[in-house]
Amino acid sequence: MPNPERYIAASVRWRRDYSPELWSVRLELEAPFQFRPGQYATLAVEDDEGLHERPYSIVSSPREAGLEFFFELVPEGELTPRLYRLGEGDRLWVRRAAKGLFQLDSRSGRARHLMVATVTGVAPFVSMLRTLAAPAGGEPGGSTAPETLALIVAASRSWEFGYREEVLALAERLPALRPVFSVSRPWEDTAWTGECGRAEDILRKYADAAGCQAAATTAYLCGHPQMIANAKGILTRGGFAPRSIHEEIYWIPPKAAARPAASRD
Ligand SMILES: Cc1cc2nc3c(=O)[nH]c(=O)nc-3n(C[C@H](O)[C@H](O)[C@H](O)COP(=O)(O)OP(=O)(O)OC[C@H]3O[C@@H](n4cnc5c(N)ncnc54)[C@H](O)[C@@H]3O)c2cc1C
Repeated sequence: MPNPERYIAASVRWRRDYSPELWSVRLELEAPFQFRPGQYATLAVEDDEGLHERPYSIVSSPREAGLEFFFELVPEGELTPRLYRLGEGDRLWVRRAAKGLFQLDSRSGRARHLMVATVTGVAPFVSMLRTLAAPAGGEPGGSTAPETLALIVAASRSWEFGYREEVLALAERLPALRPVFSVSRPWEDTAWTGECGRAEDILRKYADAAGCQAAATTAYLCGHPQMIANAKGILTRGGFAPRSIHEEIYWIPPKAAARPAASRD
């Protein structure tokens, strides 16, 4: 059993599958867990081979009971196949301390926020948006109320958007929120009638439409490392200073498997 001074025992309260590789869970924890919207928790599964742990952005708001996560299965990975086998009632562990600086910027005075995600990279943004929409107010705190929350979420196909309906509903309650969902492989999703293209392909168009000029905007990039590199280049060329671009890179591609950007859809 992992050291209880460092880990909290948790169990799966519910599980929701979106596709064969994408699913969400809500965990019930056996001790209080503090975090701020946008932060991540380290989840661990123990088996005969030891303790396997990785960081995951928290989807839920600190005002909710339990912790919610949005996972993508990496079939050859160490932890996600183990997480994938967990169903309602199964146990796992959560490191006691939440971590991460990927939080809504309420200090710089910039009132516009440009959020860009691939697939599970929407997780920290859902936490921020749920918190902003929660009636109590307060979190994420600070003096500058968001004037614009432009959110771009891209996935290969529309069934990979785990939180699309929820984000669209949140936009009804948050007038600043301007979400767009984009599919990069529309030929595999012929029923999709929305925006098409990778996040970086549509970034300039939607940033401009939302009035997210460099001087007034903080940008947040989350998920696929290649999207983050490409989007960062676009924003930097558009005048964004490094301090106004926040990144949460979910994994580092192994050099041997690195592919040119053009080969990713
Ligand atoms: C701060 C932070 C927050 C994160 N939040 C989330 C989250 O909310 N949801 C989520 O699903 N993941 C998230 N991740 C990624 C997560 O921590 C794991 O890296 C991922 O789940 C793979 O774990 P694994 O043990 O199965 O694979 P590993 O054994 O760690 O990786 C095996 C190989 O797959 C590559 N790889 C890892 N992830 C992917 C991927 N998604 N697609 C393609 N190749 C990949 C690795 O580079 C490695 O070469 C986050 C990572 C960080 C740093």
